[in-house]
Amino acid sequence: MLIYFTLLILFFPFFFASASLPSSPVLNVKIADKLKVVDITGIDLERKIFFPEEKERVHSGRKTLRFNCHSHKNLSLDGSLLVASINSPTQVLTWNKNLYRGDFNLAVEKNKKGCSLIHRVSLENYISSLLAKEMNAVWPIESLKAQAIAARTYAVIKMRENESSEKPYHLLNSEIHQVTGHLLDETLRTVKAARETQGEVLVLKKNQQLAPVFYSAKCGGKTHLAENIWGNRVPGQASVICPYCHNHGKKKWESKVSINEVRRIIKKTTEPNLTNIVFPPDNLTSEDLYYYSKGELKHIKKSSLRRHLGRKKIVSNNFSIIATDKKNITLQGSGLGHGVGLCQLGALEMAKRGIKAEEILSFYFPLHEIKKIY
Ligand SMILES: [Zn+2]
Repeated sequence: MLIYFTLLILFFPFFFASASLPSSPVLNVKIADKLKVVDITGIDLERKIFFPEEKERVHSGRKTLRFNCHSHKNLSLDGSLLVASINSPTQVLTWNKNLYRGDFNLAVEKNKKGCSLIHRVSLENYISSLLAKEMNAVWPIESLKAQAIAARTYAVIKMRENESSEKPYHLLNSEIHQVTGHLLDETLRTVKAARETQGEVLVLKKNQQLAPVFYSAKCGGKTHLAENIWGNRVPGQASVICPYCHNHGKKKWESKVSINEVRRIIKKTTEPNLTNIVFPPDNLTSEDLYYYSKGELKHIKKSSLRRHLGRKKIVSNNFSIIATDKKNITLQGSGLGHGVGLCQLGALEMAKRGIKAEEILSFYFPLHEIKKIY
């Protein structure tokens, strides 16, 4: 009895702590839309139809169920409508030759033909397969753990934002939000990285609130504030000099851009009456591209040029003019991606040097700290 009592006292805080934390939440990820037909395969499938009439049925054994979405085409909707859900006691379903862990919902959305397919997946399984897509499953565990925490933060914010919205999902499986994979993208290492950081997100040190965090492939020497790249102020962002990524990925990129094109963008965005344009010497880490117009020194955000010229032509936001002729300017830059937040190749290098995930994150997000929310 005494032993039992002592054990209870010893373990009570842990018992209490784990009992008070909610388990991994379920994330609704839209993986496809405008589908005419949806075939889902699995074992002992339970199909619930909510529309046009409610019915429920279990299909014993391994079966493929077909859903025809054209019958909803004349539906007039204010928001969206959940039409069916499909699950299996095995928690594994196949769609489009890929295996998914979790359940599926089928919905119809306003102004969208056909069905939207929504994968309902535990946030931790979502993170395990995301690491293979948004980072690289063979990278060192500490870089994967840093990525897991950053991606989980993003997903939890989207989940809370869209919890009570009209949308039948929290986020998209796309570059617009985050790209995740399916069951076979998960590896021992990605599962370990998700498990060892389970429930961990980044919050602001000053008020313990969640605040958006971003990441991109390679900052190229300096990370950027969201407001300098997208124009909207995001609390808790920092721009840091990154000495870690330069030996990874492509060293430099070059691109030739016509001066007429630059002039057209400036006229459209900042100076409608622009006529002639002359460029003074530029430097790589400047956020702005300077130019003389009618003898006056003016500037346009380099990120604005990138937005208008496209991510293929302007690979990153760290670039400068290295040559000018009558018709063109030649830009040279370093990095890959928008450069806001975590630099993934920087995280790779830090992890290779033995730096832990927590320190990697505090380097790129100095105003945040890790908090376990479940
Ligand atoms: Zn970097």
